[in-house]
Amino acid sequence: MQSSTLNLIIVGHVDHGKSTLIGRLLYDTESLPPDRLKEIEKISEALGREREFAFVMDSLEEERKRGITIDTTQTFFKTPQRRYVIIDAPGHKEFLKNMITGTSQAEAALLIVDAQEGVREQTKRHGYILGMLGLQQIVVVINKMDLVDYSQERFQEVKEEITGFLGSLEIRPSYTVPLSAIKGDNVATASKLLPWYSGPTALEALDTFAELKIEEKPLRFPIQDIYQIEGKQIIVGRVEAGTVKTGEILYVLPLKKEVKVNSIERFLAEEVKKAGVGESVGIFLGDGLDVQRGQILSRDLGSIITNRIKANIFWMEKGVYQMGDPLLFRCVTQEIPCTIEKIYKTFDPASLEVIEEATGQIREAEVAEVMISLEREAVIDQFQQIPEMGRFVLEQQGLPAAGGIIL
Ligand code: GDP
Repeated sequence: MQSSTLNLIIVGHVDHGKSTLIGRLLYDTESLPPDRLKEIEKISEALGREREFAFVMDSLEEERKRGITIDTTQTFFKTPQRRYVIIDAPGHKEFLKNMITGTSQAEAALLIVDAQEGVREQTKRHGYILGMLGLQQIVVVINKMDLVDYSQERFQEVKEEITGFLGSLEIRPSYTVPLSAIKGDNVATASKLLPWYSGPTALEALDTFAELKIEEKPLRFPIQDIYQIEGKQIIVGRVEAGTVKTGEILYVLPLKKEVKVNSIERFLAEEVKKAGVGESVGIFLGDGLDVQRGQILSRDLGSIITNRIKANIFWMEKGVYQMGDPLLFRCVTQEIPCTIEKIYKTFDPASLEVIEEATGQIREAEVAEVMISLEREAVIDQFQQIPEMGRFVLEQQGLPAAGGIIL
């Protein structure tokens, strides 16, 4: 059975071979529909080149534009282990916004560097994005090894350059793989031309990564509302992680008070014993409990409880935010008045160029690294662990002004 999926992003400087590598991954894993393959072969032949894998991506892109493919953002390939979905690529206008606001959830990344060119401007910016998303499952691939005669020395040089740079961002890639996307060396099959390399191929490296499996995480049940139904105090909300079962002992956070699940109630359903991720249910913990909207029912004490949050935010609102202006922090059902007490840096989200350091304001469409000061404690988790508890919205005068990821 192959039911699992890993969401992947592929990043790297323009022309370092992203499209070619994606094409090669689709081809080598036999994930291309046969008619598509014929089409590519025909074009390549006409142009008198080797099968040009970048065409795969271009023709998928064409389809996207014409609205032909059913799913417009996803490309996938599969191994015996699981499916991989390439969810997005930087350079798309909405990339950063999608990542921050949660339409896309990357679980792993493949960062591609040209063996001849080495680290370039976008390599660095994309590296920064990986850090911003808190991604820890990263494969660096040094591509176009065919152009440097499969030289071990050159590989080492580029490897040191990129791992040095990533290290300065506190990112440690799990693997660095030499390969040639165009020739297919070390993508899905180990290459004889790289006898000095004994590590995994790019695909083998990806196959070692873990999936997010939000349903297997400890329960997070943000309290949305409290109702009195037939004399019982019912706590209503949506399961954001894990499962809730009758009879279980839970904590009410941030108080850390222990409570017991007496029953789970669902509209028009009898004897519900269990509820999983995405389900909205009522929970009866007993009467007379002092609980409120915005508190979190939790299976463990693994959450972070804090009133100061370091985060990357994407300021969507028109106009200028002045440091210290009042805002409202919203994370699941938590709503807490706050201000931004420090702005470390602001970035242009398209180019990711630093606009200003240690500044006092954020302008429309800028990304900023900030420290948020909350009026009372919030319950949060690492974004990579439990996404819904690791991202938030900031409201200004009742309107959503920014989205953010907790660092
Ligand atoms: P992208 O901009 O990152 O998507 O890069 P492309 O996949 O479009 O590749 C840019 C150019 O590099 C194209 O002309 C590719 O044919 C070429 N290229 C990609 N991978 C390799 C490789 O492994 N070896 C060689 N020699 N050329 C490659």
